[in-house]
Amino acid sequence: MLNIKYELTKNPKEKPDFNNLGFGKYYTDHMFVMDYTEGKGWHDAKIVPYGPLSLDPAAMVFHYAQESFEGLKAYRTPNNEIQLFRPEKNAERMINTNKRMCIPEIPVEDFVQACKALVSVEKDWVPNVDGTSLYIRPFVIADEAHLGVRPSLTYKFIVIASPVGAYYSTGINPVKIYVEDEYVRAAPGLTGFTKCGGNYAASLAAQTKGHDLGYEQVLWLDGVERKYVEEVGSMNCFFKIDGTIYTAPTVGTVLPGITRMSCIELLKSWGYTVSEERLAIDDIINAYKNGKLEEVFGTGTAAVISPVGTLRYEDTVCVINDNKIGEVTQKLYDTLTGIQWGKIADTMNWTTKVEA
Ligand SMILES: *Cc1c(COP(=O)(O)O)cnc(C)c1O
Repeated sequence: MLNIKYELTKNPKEKPDFNNLGFGKYYTDHMFVMDYTEGKGWHDAKIVPYGPLSLDPAAMVFHYAQESFEGLKAYRTPNNEIQLFRPEKNAERMINTNKRMCIPEIPVEDFVQACKALVSVEKDWVPNVDGTSLYIRPFVIADEAHLGVRPSLTYKFIVIASPVGAYYSTGINPVKIYVEDEYVRAAPGLTGFTKCGGNYAASLAAQTKGHDLGYEQVLWLDGVERKYVEEVGSMNCFFKIDGTIYTAPTVGTVLPGITRMSCIELLKSWGYTVSEERLAIDDIINAYKNGKLEEVFGTGTAAVISPVGTLRYEDTVCVINDNKIGEVTQKLYDTLTGIQWGKIADTMNWTTKVEA
């Protein structure tokens, strides 16, 4: 158990309009901060007023990007309770990221305690409008002032929170996806399985290119042969072909999404066959041409489930399911959001309450 010190703000902010939140625009009154020093370990856990950090310009995170992050949400239920969705999975994933980044690990219980403590202090920031939630962003930065290349000897673990709106303010709109065949996101031995800022920095050029072509997101192919589909922007990707549901295996190059994992568990419990074998983009295009590409959707904490309406690979533009959300996609969306917002029974035992 962390011994968290509380220094609460005397100047709470005015709350934004919960009907108009957008994503990542507003931040709550406080943040959780904990320091790490080589030889001493993690120490000085505290909740302090939200505000700028003071860092040495030589702090290693600025130069060599030694950093990791997570993303999860707190949901307000119809009974006015607040709950998290599988936060221990985020904690476990951050341990895996940190190992790869040579960042000291944060025990699962401490990570979950930090998130719960912050949400508890910020309970009035957990919005009550349909589809809204409090997005929680835990992250670790290397803050030692040192320009030699080696792992930092000091770190900060910080948790901030941001009330966010319904991802689809005008109902679920299928997204347009561009299959990137030039840039790659990950390759075996690299950091594709981690949630680190560097992966995103390296993805911006492709995202910009996709946007310029009129597409909202990029679907990445594997970095070696540019042949197998991996994932989409900040989402994992599923394909329903002739009744079977495919998603890329998460061995090294694909981020092991918690929404992805939850979808696979739900689909299997409903009797669907889920294949985690590698799937070639050519097989997807052929399935489309044969009328067998039934549904495509992305999964991630921000949007939960995002139907894909258009998929473009080279010169082929596939319009999937008439640009409408598919049956399985809709069922997953309804079930997952139902569990997350406490509107249907959590038979999988995925949610955990925050004491408010
Ligand atoms: C966070 C993330 C996902 C989705 O993971 P969830 O745990 O479902 O939110 C997928 N791909 C990438 C690259 C990500 O960073």
